[in-house]
Amino acid sequence: MSSPYTIRVFGDPVLRKVAEDIDDIDGKLVKLADDMLDTMYAEPGIGLAAPQVGVQRRLFVYDVGDGPNTLVNPVISESDGEWEFEEGCLSVPDLSWNIVRPKQIHLTGYDLDGREVSIEADELLARLFQHELDHLDGVLLLDRLDDETRKQAMKTLRERAEQLNQIQVSADLGFTPQSSGGLSLP
Ligand code: ZN
Repeated sequence: MSSPYTIRVFGDPVLRKVAEDIDDIDGKLVKLADDMLDTMYAEPGIGLAAPQVGVQRRLFVYDVGDGPNTLVNPVISESDGEWEFEEGCLSVPDLSWNIVRPKQIHLTGYDLDGREVSIEADELLARLFQHELDHLDGVLLLDRLDDETRKQAMKTLRERAEQLNQIQVSADLGFTPQSSGGLSLP
């Protein structure tokens, strides 16, 4: 499946901005949601928020196995309980952490037809909603970690960025490292 968007990853400032409310649900917005779903399925992922494709609007798409869904201007009105779950993020690729969040939430918002929706979500779906809402507020998984775990995560991300830079430099010099990590010798 083709992927209309490149997913923005950690370090991209758009992931740190608070997204703006959507006033009009028009054809452009429906197209955006369609393209986001294609991008999400191509990864594959089960949720994707607009800032992850560089769009600062309060919208996310998801599919937890019962088909594609889009939520516009979502708000969590109630949350209850605690649930630990290993959470990853397409914008912080290949890393995941056990994170405790509320187990149940009540979420309201709008669908793409402008109808009001009200969803009682539990466990995975509740987790997904909280994760995507974080994206709309410029919050990443890293902000949900304790200090020590976050330091480790930042170190890993820094090292990875340096490796990518080395590959870039190698490419500029006219040769390409054998491995994507740039560590093995030819
Ligand atoms: Zn994410």
